[in-house]
Amino acid sequence: MLSFKKSDLYIENVKLSNIAKEYGTSTYVYSKQRIIGNFKAYKDGLGAKEGLICFACKTNSNGAILKILAGLGAGADTVSGGEIYRCLKAGFESSKIVYAGVGKTAEEIEYALKNKIFMFNVESFEELDGIDKIAGKLKTKANIAFRINPYVNPDTHSYIVTGKKGTKFGIPYEDAINAYLTAKKKKNINVMGIHTHIGSQILETAPFKIAAQKIKKIVDEVEKNGIRISYIDCGGGLGIKYEWEKVPSPKQLMSKIFPVFDKDKKFIFEPGRSIIGDAGHLLAKVLYRKMSGGKSFLVTDAGMNDLIRPTLYDAYHQIIPVKKTKAKKVKSDVVGPICESGDFIGRDRMLPIIERGEYLLIVCAGAYGATMSSEYNSRPLIAEVLVDDKEVILIRKRAIYKDLTLNEIA
Ligand SMILES: *Cc1c(COP(=O)(O)O)cnc(C)c1O
Repeated sequence: MLSFKKSDLYIENVKLSNIAKEYGTSTYVYSKQRIIGNFKAYKDGLGAKEGLICFACKTNSNGAILKILAGLGAGADTVSGGEIYRCLKAGFESSKIVYAGVGKTAEEIEYALKNKIFMFNVESFEELDGIDKIAGKLKTKANIAFRINPYVNPDTHSYIVTGKKGTKFGIPYEDAINAYLTAKKKKNINVMGIHTHIGSQILETAPFKIAAQKIKKIVDEVEKNGIRISYIDCGGGLGIKYEWEKVPSPKQLMSKIFPVFDKDKKFIFEPGRSIIGDAGHLLAKVLYRKMSGGKSFLVTDAGMNDLIRPTLYDAYHQIIPVKKTKAKKVKSDVVGPICESGDFIGRDRMLPIIERGEYLLIVCAGAYGATMSSEYNSRPLIAEVLVDDKEVILIRKRAIYKDLTLNEIA
């Protein structure tokens, strides 16, 4: 949804420099059509199979974006009470909300039960116990799946591998059967399915298939014990193209998974990054240029507090000037204003020598961008806008200084 028209970069049919002038910088900019297209690819992939596409809203939980997805019939994959709150508020049906996480508190469990979410993806025996007790107290039954750690190790950044032996996630593979047998004995627990999520930014279908095959073994064993597993929740994790990556489509992913299981199974997918990652970008202004230690720096008004992925995961984001120029290119570091050497957006990039006050687009920052942002260095949270064809809609106001001290008692 990004394209140059003459020398100006557009998102859908809006000139990015106009957004910068009207809404200021730095600002997150999202393409509505891209969000819709990305979701449809999952929906179409599912085809005639019964199931749910649950948007992993930790990737982006802006209410306007959630609303679009809820309107398309998406479910939600949540990891906290706060996310459940946001999703209900945005119009997701509670019967389409799944809830994972290793550290669900009693308050969160109670909140989820009272709001009748679809199911808990349970990550430990003690959590199962807690959910059973709280459901009993509320005189209700909790629908659950166990999140099983299938011990596969996809080739991705170590911080975002979750399905490997020794991570904190899920029920260890060898304890899976026992978990289901334990659940069968609990009065207030209703087993719905099985869940696995092996990691994020995965670029091949093979690890998903291996995980599915391992999960299938457990499903068979559990069903032999008279426990019915209706839903196979395959988690999220499909990668996107940040730079050179070649990414499988949702359909390609599903075509590897569906044949592993019996025909009557229903499926849940929990895509996050592959829905919103390439639909959002961070628009920033060059504040200063300087040379230091023989190196060229472009200092922008976007910092690691706005987009932490480069700092946290050494992630790559393409950086492009929103105005084409014939200026000579030099190797530059694009850095933010934060007082940390780790505050960089991109290093050693061949970028044209652009002037102070010009704008850069930090591409594919829609996932794990705004949701991971903070006020570090007392920088108010930035604005977010949604572009729909020629229209620009403000979906989060830029915060002001007063917001910084809002809840402080001094
Ligand atoms: C983070 C997460 C996802 C989404 O992962 P993506 O790589 O963004 O698709 C899905 N399910 C669970 C349980 C998660 O924690």
